[in-house]
Amino acid sequence: MKTPEKMKAADLLSPNVLSVREVETPQPGPADVLIQVASCAICSSDVSLLAQPWPGQPPYGEFIPGHEYSGVIAAKGETVDEFRVGDRVAVEAHFGCGRCRNCRRGNYTSCLNYGKREKGHRANGFTTNGGFAQYVINHVNTIYPIPDSVGFAEASLITNLGCVLYGLETIGGYLVGDQVAVIGPGPLGLISVEAAKALCAGKVYLIGTRASRLQVGAAVGADRLIDSNREDPVQVVREETGNIGADLVIESSGSAQGIKMAIAMARRMGKILLLGFPDDPVSADFASLAKDNKAIYTVRGEGWGNCGRAVSLLASGKVDLKPLVTHSFPLAEIEEGFKTFRERIGGAIKVVVKPNDDDAGIP
Ligand SMILES: [Zn+2]
Ligand SMILES: [Zn+2]
Repeated sequence: MKTPEKMKAADLLSPNVLSVREVETPQPGPADVLIQVASCAICSSDVSLLAQPWPGQPPYGEFIPGHEYSGVIAAKGETVDEFRVGDRVAVEAHFGCGRCRNCRRGNYTSCLNYGKREKGHRANGFTTNGGFAQYVINHVNTIYPIPDSVGFAEASLITNLGCVLYGLETIGGYLVGDQVAVIGPGPLGLISVEAAKALCAGKVYLIGTRASRLQVGAAVGADRLIDSNREDPVQVVREETGNIGADLVIESSGSAQGIKMAIAMARRMGKILLLGFPDDPVSADFASLAKDNKAIYTVRGEGWGNCGRAVSLLASGKVDLKPLVTHSFPLAEIEEGFKTFRERIGGAIKVVVKPNDDDAGIP
């Protein structure tokens, strides 16, 4: 496969201004691969870094965002013998420096040299170039082979599933028979429902305010939908768990109300996993946490190789991310894609951009 010298890419020129233009196709280093991008999903992190620069983000005019993507290996560095040109792959965003205290213990998504390219750290789509382009460079440690049965669009969502699985691994991982409450039917919440069911949780509750999203939750396996405009979620979960509370609450809304609710509906010694990031400081009932021995866990990114486990779950058919991919746009219409995602036009959940849609090379 011959790669062209120039490629089309969406360059971030200034806050919220993405311009699709021709740039040099990047060249892989000795341990890198060049990926021809088939699908790159828009994430709420993209919306926030478009509006306000991310820590360590390259200067405007020199930065291609996009961190959730999949594609085909088009070229590789001389030391890469783990993959072949033509392999279909999905990626994870984080590549740790490998030398800080956290990386040396395997916690590369919490790299202490985050944003320091000269120390070896990369976070494609955040601090190094990402996938809203026809081609992108990835270190070999950040790619995962995907079987033919997994489509590129759903494969571009594996960082989301990887993040949920990383969270579940962090809290102990064993969910068989557990009562799990998920707050917030956004992409991570819906994927949390799917992952909990795949890991044989007992009853899974999904809490939200939008009926259409709750219906998607039902379609992907939630056992009990709670519309918080119509029912009191804390009361429902308490009642339906024999007045005990949920074994695990996954908070994915990032709202102050969601965090308060999570603490209130977790059982004594229950666990709370925070997947949503609140914009502002939140006051919460720490007395309930302390007196009832509840634990709050946080996760940063999709660590411990959980994107590989995510591919495995997808390939097994136990988790299906296809229902979450509601819209797709060619690269030239990326602005329209962002608008659709931001304003949830047409019930948008995940919107993907296909940078090579006009090219014949990719299915
Ligand atoms: Zn993301
Ligand atoms: Zn590090």
